[in-house]
Amino acid sequence: MATDLHRAQALISGARRIVVLTGAGMSAESGIPTFRQAQAALWADFDPLQLASPEGFQADPPRVWSWYAWRREKVVGAQPHAGYFALAAAAARIEEMVLITQNVDGLHGRAGSRNVIELHGNILRTTCFANCGVRIDDPAALPPGIPPRCPRCDSYLRPDVVWFGEMLDPALLARAERAAADGEVMLVVGTSGLVYPAAGLPALAARSGAAIITVNPEATEIDSIARICLRATAAQALPELLGGRTAA
Ligand code: NAD
Ligand code: ZN
Repeated sequence: MATDLHRAQALISGARRIVVLTGAGMSAESGIPTFRQAQAALWADFDPLQLASPEGFQADPPRVWSWYAWRREKVVGAQPHAGYFALAAAAARIEEMVLITQNVDGLHGRAGSRNVIELHGNILRTTCFANCGVRIDDPAALPPGIPPRCPRCDSYLRPDVVWFGEMLDPALLARAERAAADGEVMLVVGTSGLVYPAAGLPALAARSGAAIITVNPEATEIDSIARICLRATAAQALPELLGGRTAA
């Protein structure tokens, strides 16, 4: 009898349009903590709403800025793992592959993936809390201050990520939904399926006839609609599933 891995390999090699959805678990083996891991460590006293919402920022801008500065340092120091390179290499062999990520760490791009839909923004970018249009791409170019002030309107600067209670960029979400509806296979890696609207994409894909394959060492909400659940980590499973090189 074929193993789950072999069945998943066959589904992928038989598909022309593959859509991939990644979450925080994708980056765990690159040393970037998921919210749960971060809370087990340094930030146990705060709930994510205090750290990742406009209200939390307004209540204590230095605290939120410092938390993001800590995460930004982790991101800058992190390297994409083998699973990232396997995804980037697979794109060259697959007729159409769209990569949607909930992650804000930019590691897919650093591993060579192109056309990544970063649904929740990018932590290395900074924008103006008053939304005056200022955007700073290079963290090294940030003015001093915790948080720094906007060079145009003097409001606080904030990370260019989507916080709880904020809208996703409608154009990006629409692209992601189109890709989910068009895919023959959706590979869902390292996401718990709890944060909407991204968490709705696998159900949309399944309704449109896609086979869902999950990669996650733990059970999640998405398992009930998945064709195959690979209980493994991203760095283990993706190179096996997709082939490709195993080191940077
Ligand atoms: P989440 O809700 O996406 O859950 C993480 C999932 O990853 C869990 O189901 C866990 O079982 C799984 N996982 C853990 N280690 C894994 C591994 N090595 N391989 C595969 N799967 C693994 O994540 P969250 O931390 O609750 O995040 C909530 C929101 O914040 C999401 O939008 C998330 O993407 C974002 N976030 C992003 C980053 C990042 O950019 N790296 C980090 C933390 C949170
Ligand atoms: Zn401004």
